[in-house]
Parts: sequence; C-alpha cells; structure tokens
Amino acid sequence: MLNLVLFGPPGAGKGTQADFLIEKYKLNHLSTGDLLRDQIAAETELGKEAKRYIDKGYLAPDSVVIEMIKNILKENKEANGYIFDGFPRTVAQAKALDELLNEYNIPVSGMLCLRVDEEELKQRLLNRGKTSGRPDDQDFSIIENRIRIYNEKTEPLRDYYRAQNKYYKIDGAGSIEEVTKRLVDTIAIL
Ligand code: AMP
Repeated sequence: MLNLVLFGPPGAGKGTQADFLIEKYKLNHLSTGDLLRDQIAAETELGKEAKRYIDKGYLAPDSVVIEMIKNILKENKEANGYIFDGFPRTVAQAKALDELLNEYNIPVSGMLCLRVDEEELKQRLLNRGKTSGRPDDQDFSIIENRIRIYNEKTEPLRDYYRAQNKYYKIDGAGSIEEVTKRLVDTIAIL
C-alpha cells in the first residue's frame, strides 16, 4: 500500500502532479482544498464555516479538516492507497493523520515536498487565478497571506516527517513532465 503526502506551498503543483500519480499508481486522491470547495459550493454548514477562512487565505480549523479525512478513510477501507494533497497542513493534523492511519495499519510511505521559488509561486497563482475561478488566487494580498501562513504553520511539518525518515525534497521547478519524473524516481525508492 502506497500512502503519499504530497507537500509544498500553494502553487507548487501538488494538484497537477496528483492527477498523474493517482492514474499511475491507482491511488485515491484526497485534496482537502477540493473537499472544502465542494462543501462551499453545496452551501453546507461546514462549507459556510470554512469559507470565512479560505476567502482570506487563512487555514480552516484543524477539527474541521480532520473530521473530513476521518470520514473518508472510514468510507474507503478497500482503497489501494492515498495521495494526501494539501493535508496535513499543521503539526496537529499530521499527528491526527498518523493516529488514523495506525488504526488501519497503513502508515505514510513518504512525504514528497515540492520546492519552488517564492516569486515563481506568486506568478503561478496569479496566472491560475485567471482561469481557476478561485477567489483566493485572484487577490495578491490573499496569495501573500497563504504563502506566509504556509511558512509559519505548514513548513514546520518538514521536521515532523524528517524525524520519521519520511521527508523527500523534490525540485518543483521546470516542466510538469520533469517534475513528474522526479516524483516517480523518488516513489521508486520508498
Ligand atoms: P488548496 O486547494 O490546497 O490550496 O486549499 C485552499 C484553501 O483551503 C487553503 O488556503 C485553506 O484555507 C483551506 N485548506 C485546504 N486544506 C486545508 C487543511 N489541510 N487545513 C486547513 N485549511 C485547509
């Protein structure tokens, strides 16, 4: 069973690469950003609560995202493995994920961290905003806030996974195909 944490700042290419990897390795794609946007579109209570944070570029509360992940793992016991995309984003979420996966005896195989220069990230997000329809990609100050929050709350997770010998740094610059190859080469040694 392959359980991958696809990690990196907003705009690093996690979603794009996840699309390819789920196909190749027949994994379930679990993107908390997509799940939250689905909840917002469906105007659920959870969606309404999450929207208040997402629209400003802040993280949704840990309890909300952990509960979502818990339900999905429970409903998909037959899964071949997962790509966690945009989750975990805090140490509390990483601890909760380890506990949940321990229950099912399916530990994280590796954390693949896409590294991209900050100026490049901002440019990619602004470009994505022209077509994605995502309000949080269209405002420069919100983009900057998301990158700041990433550096503050999410980046420390590298140490969390490094301590478990599960941290793999991947250069996220270059073409989509070049980055995919680096990911595939790394997954081969997990
Ligand atoms: P993403 O699509 O991964 O860029 O996520 C978009 C937004 O959803 C983020 O800026 C957060 O506001 C929220 N979000 C997504 N995943 C998480 C998470 N694991 N924890 C907290 N908030 C999240």
